[in-house]
Amino acid sequence: MSTSLPLEIAEFHGDGISSELSAAVHAVADALPIDITFHDVDLTLERRRTDAEGSYNDAEKAMRKCRVAMKYPTVTEDASPNKVLRDRFDFSVIHRPVATIPGVETRIRGTVDLHVVRIATGGTYEDPGRRIGADSAISIRLIERRPSFQASMFAFKLAERIGANVTSASKYTIQRNTDSLFEEVAAGVAQKFPNVGHESELFDALLAKLIMNPEGYRVVVTPNEYGDFLSDAACGMIGSIGLGASASYSFDNDGNILLAMFDPAGGTAPDIAGKGLCNPSAALWAFSMLLDHVGQCELGAKLDAAVRSVISSGNTTGDLGGSLNTEQFTKAVVLEMG
Ligand code: ATP
Repeated sequence: MSTSLPLEIAEFHGDGISSELSAAVHAVADALPIDITFHDVDLTLERRRTDAEGSYNDAEKAMRKCRVAMKYPTVTEDASPNKVLRDRFDFSVIHRPVATIPGVETRIRGTVDLHVVRIATGGTYEDPGRRIGADSAISIRLIERRPSFQASMFAFKLAERIGANVTSASKYTIQRNTDSLFEEVAAGVAQKFPNVGHESELFDALLAKLIMNPEGYRVVVTPNEYGDFLSDAACGMIGSIGLGASASYSFDNDGNILLAMFDPAGGTAPDIAGKGLCNPSAALWAFSMLLDHVGQCELGAKLDAAVRSVISSGNTTGDLGGSLNTEQFTKAVVLEMG
């Protein structure tokens, strides 16, 4: 029975295991005590090959209507769908929570419970550099005040909510112009949050300290490429590079979140697609982040915990050594949620 207003979610379907991940999300959604309507958008390679513009226009229409979206993995052939969507929706901040999964073997001691908040644009990833002759090339690294501010605000609000400190990490002693602008913005935002501790850390030192003392870091805000490195490094620390969920955000002029898209960070896994074998945990965690974002925080937390609990009980899909298929694992999660 519904206890709140209907929730409308744009759902961007992709390739490979996308449909199986979507089925898992729907199975959980059907069991929740809220009305949810999904607005399907076909972003499969087949559709994009024949009508890329139309598929992205559909995505944009659904996103503007719902303001929240689930996205599943897509094959990149020419343009990267992730980049197209990021540009169209003006996503400027990516949030990647990475937390130890009980029962999943790791090579490090300690518990990771880290939120990587990353500027989604610039850095060296939209590099307008060029070759100079045959043997040289230059790269241009871009740091901008607006996304630095938005990422910092997101990080401090999150830290305030979970009672944590914020670490801003960059190479401000070496990349003095770019990274000192980023650190200047982060320090300015820190002043708005007197109850949240803030420290700046050199990015290379942060990686070493994080590995030696994972409990010492909860929220790290960082420029684009460093956030990418840190997300993967942290996933390696918890022993599951493919099991992360990710959220992308755009903001209005008052700094409020305008659009939000949630996706499992892994790929399309063509080798197991269609066999019912894939692990839907990251998609379910992405869905739990969406629930949290729309104010269904208790349900979001419950789903997050249920996935962890089922994995830690040893009831896992094959990639984690278990014998459950996607559907069986999802059913176990629904059962665990009660
Ligand atoms: P893409 O080109 O889309 O990145 P890929 O196969 O090169 O696809 P991944 O999709 O990340 O890269 O897959 C890497 C390996 O991890 C594959 O063997 C795949 O089967 C496995 N894998 C990826 N996602 C899952 C999942 N959700 N459940 C189980 N195994 C997975």
